[in-house]
Amino acid sequence: MDKVTQAKRDIVIANRILAMEGVVDAYGHVSVRHPEDPGRFFIARSLSPELVGLDDIVEYTLDGKAIGDTRPPYLERYIHGAMYEKRPDVTNVIHAHAEATLPFGITNVPLRPVFHMAGAIGGTIPVWDIEDKFGDATNMLVTNREQGLDLAECLGNNKVVLMRGHGFSAVHTSFVGLVTMSVYLPSNARVLLEAMKLGEVKGLSDNEIATRGKNDPNSPAARRGWRYWATKAGVGELLSDADR
Ligand code: MN
Repeated sequence: MDKVTQAKRDIVIANRILAMEGVVDAYGHVSVRHPEDPGRFFIARSLSPELVGLDDIVEYTLDGKAIGDTRPPYLERYIHGAMYEKRPDVTNVIHAHAEATLPFGITNVPLRPVFHMAGAIGGTIPVWDIEDKFGDATNMLVTNREQGLDLAECLGNNKVVLMRGHGFSAVHTSFVGLVTMSVYLPSNARVLLEAMKLGEVKGLSDNEIATRGKNDPNSPAARRGWRYWATKAGVGELLSDADR
């Protein structure tokens, strides 16, 4: 199968998994850089992740213009284009509002990995506050390239950036890695919040985080999760031959 077709299938799989796992709800979106044109990306038209199918995938330029499609786009597609623009290494982007992450965007308590599966979120998760540069007259959404680039600047070389009073955005170099990380990010936030009720928390050390971060997102062990979630979400028929 050609790379573009599989990339579109992977977007559908990722949408369905993230919806099933509660990382996204009616809102939130996930994208992939065009495998043959780094200046473009694929993302669904404005549609809830649970409802996304192959016919809903649209190609965009990094500054948010749809190629040959007039259906309404996601207002916050600029998050994706800006991440691809600022981070040439990145091939996959998610934006979501997972509730468990929100407390860490509105307090000074840092979100850090506290169990092994969440190690990939990294030891530094910056918090972006739209008010810092754009004032408090915004609707809190990233609705243009300038805001997207400011968010990407705050992300820096990290994997995840929290957005104050809004949610998070995250990047990866593979769909398997992005989805796995996005499933365990809110999970880690819940565990950390529970643990803080009990007392002092011992999270992963910097060395442990660095070592977990070196895991190959395309190893058989990593793809096991992708295959499991895709099948459970009812889109196993879209998996690549290698994953079936
Ligand atoms: Mn949003």
